[in-house]
Amino acid sequence: MPEFRQNIVTKEWVIISTERAKRPDQFAEHRLPRKATPEFSQDCPFCPGNEHQTPPPSLQLGDGEGWSVRVVPNKYAALRPDHSTKRERAGRFLKADGYGIAEVIIETPLHNLSIATMSEPQVRLVLEAYRHRKNEVAKMRDINFITLFRNHGERAGTSLEHPHSQLIATPIIPPHVRDQIHQAMSSYDSYGTCVFCEMIEEELSQNVRIVMDSRYFVAFAPFASRSPFELRIYPKTHRSFFGNATDDELDDLAHILKTLLLKIHTGLDNPDYNYLIRSAPVGDYAAKYYHWYMVIVPRLTTPAGFEMGSGIYINVSTPEQCAEFLRSVNVA
Ligand SMILES: [Zn+2]
Ligand SMILES: [Zn+2]
Repeated sequence: MPEFRQNIVTKEWVIISTERAKRPDQFAEHRLPRKATPEFSQDCPFCPGNEHQTPPPSLQLGDGEGWSVRVVPNKYAALRPDHSTKRERAGRFLKADGYGIAEVIIETPLHNLSIATMSEPQVRLVLEAYRHRKNEVAKMRDINFITLFRNHGERAGTSLEHPHSQLIATPIIPPHVRDQIHQAMSSYDSYGTCVFCEMIEEELSQNVRIVMDSRYFVAFAPFASRSPFELRIYPKTHRSFFGNATDDELDDLAHILKTLLLKIHTGLDNPDYNYLIRSAPVGDYAAKYYHWYMVIVPRLTTPAGFEMGSGIYINVSTPEQCAEFLRSVNVA
């Protein structure tokens, strides 16, 4: 029987359509084989030896010879740091210069790795770079909203093969993000608790959608998942701002993130995916109403007209089955 389920935070509804449901392992079928890529590519601007093809780094990590992680301004950025934030009228319409910060986090010198296949210490360095740049960029003029994200594969929107993530920071907090913040605030005002903490507690107590549970984090396929194998990672105790994550927490997160992505890579035959980190807006670091998290969205289905028109996603899998499947994928 199909059913509506509500996202406890955003109040959005999804349809879990068991009628059209596929078995979790069927999502791995009919994929075109990926071509094997070399460790080094002469033409790649992110490969060692080609550093002159990118602007000077804002951060470089690694000891001894060479580098392990490099963060550089995005040469083809949609936004630029040298503009004003002044809004202007265009008749009845509103516009502003494209001010913002856009950086690329080059995750490893090796051309053919991904988070799933690189070592855990290397993933830890990538997270270190995220935290460092998030905190530095947050201090910059008129920056209010910072998105850290990773696109893996063409369906996820990347054309460059070399493993990389991105940071884009804007002066504008977009309406759908504001709406989530308002919902979380309103819930805090009503119940005096963080709605994300409530959700985490409920997921842990129902214990049917949990994929991993560690000292500091829990990862699950949420009750109202929009798409197959959508996964979220939350700090188990209340934390509003990713930039305040401790060293111990980053150690733990490196393990969780790498393991989840390796389970997806192994169990679903390396699908394209996006992941991103959502955190309280700049300046609201101690927010009692907001809780930072990571969301991973494998690109296994394509939203169509109904999703575009209604904002209601039809999910052709159940998060319970997806979680069970991922728990069973052995990557040790
Ligand atoms: Zn490369
Ligand atoms: Zn919380």
